[in-house]
Amino acid sequence: MSHLFNTYAKWDVEISSGLGTKVIDTNGKDYLDFTSGIGVCNLGHCHPEVVGPVQEQLEKLWHTSNLFQSSLQEQVAELLANHSCGDLVFFANSGAEANEAAIKLARKFTGKPKIITFLQSFHGRTLGTIAATGQEKVKTGFGPMLETFHHVPYNNIEAVKEAIDGQTAAVMLEVIQGEGGVIPADHDFLKKLEQVCHDNGLLLIIDEVQTGIGRTGKPFAYQHYNISPDIITSAKGLGNGIPVGAMIGKKKLSSAFGPGSHATTFGGGPLAMTAAKAVLNIVFQEHFLQEVEDKADFFAKQLTKMKDRLDGLVNIRHKGLMYGLEFKEDVGSLVTNLRANGLLALNAGPNVLRMLPPLTVTYKELEEALNIIEKTV
Ligand SMILES: *Cc1c(COP(=O)(O)O)cnc(C)c1O
Repeated sequence: MSHLFNTYAKWDVEISSGLGTKVIDTNGKDYLDFTSGIGVCNLGHCHPEVVGPVQEQLEKLWHTSNLFQSSLQEQVAELLANHSCGDLVFFANSGAEANEAAIKLARKFTGKPKIITFLQSFHGRTLGTIAATGQEKVKTGFGPMLETFHHVPYNNIEAVKEAIDGQTAAVMLEVIQGEGGVIPADHDFLKKLEQVCHDNGLLLIIDEVQTGIGRTGKPFAYQHYNISPDIITSAKGLGNGIPVGAMIGKKKLSSAFGPGSHATTFGGGPLAMTAAKAVLNIVFQEHFLQEVEDKADFFAKQLTKMKDRLDGLVNIRHKGLMYGLEFKEDVGSLVTNLRANGLLALNAGPNVLRMLPPLTVTYKELEEALNIIEKTV
């Protein structure tokens, strides 16, 4: 018998190695990995410019407590601050932890408990972040929930306004709902939301755990929208597979997170910081991000051309290399069949086929994937 808790509906495949977009299973079958884990290996598997520094660090130092100075932490924090509207960083180990830090910081800074989040959102699996998440299925059986999250319909500014009261600290959202079906926020909605937050003294928190680190062709996806959030959270792609999360905040928030206020044993450790530094030094280059946009447009155009030939496909959504293909029917068997044909993809909700190819994907691999999709559908 398996001695694992059965918390995942595991596929009947074990991946034994990977390089770039390709992974190979234990039977020797290879796949194009258009999941990147789940938006984690944004630079593909075993990118040499990440492997090298991490290997070196592995022989030098694995861990010191956060009581010591860390120039690696300083360097990664500077990279994150220089490519966002934030100034200060707290390092955690996952997306949920980064969001926990954001929630705590927002409550402490404002002295208020309530945070407005959105239906169909996803913010993680800790008790705090399932309460923040706007999906019943992640909460069932785990109640009572932290009560001070108020969920409103996405892209609905009136609903946000109605939900604000004297106890509201912040509004938290993904600018593209990932798990919820690859649903982008409207431009107009986000601009108004920023104004509403400003007018009511609320903090604006953007969960960039899935959308950040170049996934959409910008360092962070909010940068498509000309807004300036107070807090940004990051994880998934930040370490290309080495666990690391980050909460990035504006300097006005610094007083609320002094010594003793928040902490983690592993957060910001040397291995994670070495990986993150290597990742950001590649991903945050302008020409790299431009290539992401170019490849993303190419893939979207080709998909659109194919649309009529793809049975049951009703809508193609994308921002950069984050795709949601909405079908009339459940995509469960499509995901399985694509896998059998050598393409790894995900679902996002029942009807949406989600693809998150590595940002380093080649045009040739995009074409191969298109062929597999056409053949399979
Ligand atoms: C994956 C995800 C999280 C949770 O990250 P973990 O590292 O699994 O804790 C939070 N928010 C969003 C938007 C995500 O996609």
